[in-house]
Amino acid sequence: RLEVRALGRVFDGRAVVDDVSFAIPAGQVTCLLGPSGCGKSTTLRLIAGVDMQDTGEIYVDGKLICDTVFRIPPEQRAIGLMFQDFALFPHLTVAENIAFGLKGDSAAKRARVTELLGKVRLTRHRDSYPHGLSGGEQQRVALARALAPRPRILLMDEPFSGLDERLRDDIRDETLALLKEENTAVLLVTHEPHEAMRMADEILLMRGGKIVQRGAPYNLYNAPVDRAAAAFFSDVN
Ligand code: ATP
Ligand code: MG
Repeated sequence: RLEVRALGRVFDGRAVVDDVSFAIPAGQVTCLLGPSGCGKSTTLRLIAGVDMQDTGEIYVDGKLICDTVFRIPPEQRAIGLMFQDFALFPHLTVAENIAFGLKGDSAAKRARVTELLGKVRLTRHRDSYPHGLSGGEQQRVALARALAPRPRILLMDEPFSGLDERLRDDIRDETLALLKEENTAVLLVTHEPHEAMRMADEILLMRGGKIVQRGAPYNLYNAPVDRAAAAFFSDVN
């Protein structure tokens, strides 16, 4: 479970993230949705621990991981990351990429890698190198790598943006199914209402650093908070 309380970040005197609060239980996918520049990636960076907030606190499973004075380093937060350019290690095989963040004995690591290879349907590519895979296959390796250490929280920033439009909905559905199986709490950043409608249990609609509306996709679509929100959702088919 991820909980964020009154998170704020100021750049050059401007509140880029402004009093943002929300919670994501295990197994839930929450989409942070909003136009370019509204503060989505900044919010994710604060939670990941690669930037530090000016106000607010972040909790993972009830444990404080960061406030304005105290800060657990990124690698100790049990938070997985999957960003736009999910850069696989080119000199490592698919199996080695997935195993990269795993600790423990080699039998346990191998079992986890084998399990994930099956789940993302890449068993026959176990010993392939990333450059020999399609974009969609590379995306699935990146997903398996992010999930391998069983993170409590997974942060995804526009994870499908580099993919062929025709493949995207299938990959979204497959990704969602795997996230549910793994019971991870997921915060997915997107500027595409269609993607949020398709994947989210809850949508946080962000504008100018603030959450302006939140709720089930159906509710935001049917009862947008204002004209701008209505316009934003109007092109969802
Ligand atoms: P996009 O959909 O285009 O990725 P976003 O919602 O992820 O947009 P952010 O990257 O969070 O937007 O940026 C929000 C605002 O904060 C932007 O105006 C950006 O220029 C500004 N910003 C982000 N990082 C910094 C920084 N390190 N220094 C100064 N300004 C920054
Ligand atoms: Mg961004």
